[in-house]
Amino acid sequence: MEEAQELLHCSACLTRIDGRAMKAGDKYWHDEHFLCSVCGIRLKDTKVYLKNQELFCENDYKKFVPRCASCSGFILKDCIRAMNQTFHPEHFHCFSCQTPFKDGEGFHEFKNSPYCKNCYIERACEKCHGCCRPITDTAMKAMNNSWHGACFRCKECGVSFEGKKNFYSVEGEAVCGECIGTIE
Ligand SMILES: [Zn+2]
Ligand SMILES: [Zn+2]
Ligand SMILES: [Zn+2]
Ligand SMILES: [Zn+2]
Ligand SMILES: [Zn+2]
Ligand SMILES: [Zn+2]
Repeated sequence: MEEAQELLHCSACLTRIDGRAMKAGDKYWHDEHFLCSVCGIRLKDTKVYLKNQELFCENDYKKFVPRCASCSGFILKDCIRAMNQTFHPEHFHCFSCQTPFKDGEGFHEFKNSPYCKNCYIERACEKCHGCCRPITDTAMKAMNNSWHGACFRCKECGVSFEGKKNFYSVEGEAVCGECIGTIE
């Protein structure tokens, strides 16, 4: 019975390997045929990468394998492309709270970073001068500030100016027409 080693064949020259066999993936090579398929460097003592049955040194491998913008590791399986960058799926998460984006869940881009909906709203939306919460729909501009329509009210009677009503600025605060007569 032959020894298992004698059955090994070199993936490069296809002849039997009698001496030392180099292994990558489930393939074997002669020591002297264990070379980078691009630059020909011997891979014996360096990192070896295998793709489509071809051997690569790290330098050549990284030319066509995307790297994760988050951990800078090679992306060998699933790759997420977003914002002209590539990510491991598990490393594509909200820039602020680190929550990974689930499948099919959209992300929101702000200043070239991905954010979950909540963090995006927190960062990118204008804050209401009345209640200090983000304004996710149309902001109302008045008195050099932004407001939720419902938060912009008469300081005296609390009526909302949303829509139509005129207001008057009294010491930097909005007052409605009815109330203006009562203030002197
Ligand atoms: Zn060989
Ligand atoms: Zn190479
Ligand atoms: Zn990564
Ligand atoms: Zn977040
Ligand atoms: Zn508000
Ligand atoms: Zn009023």
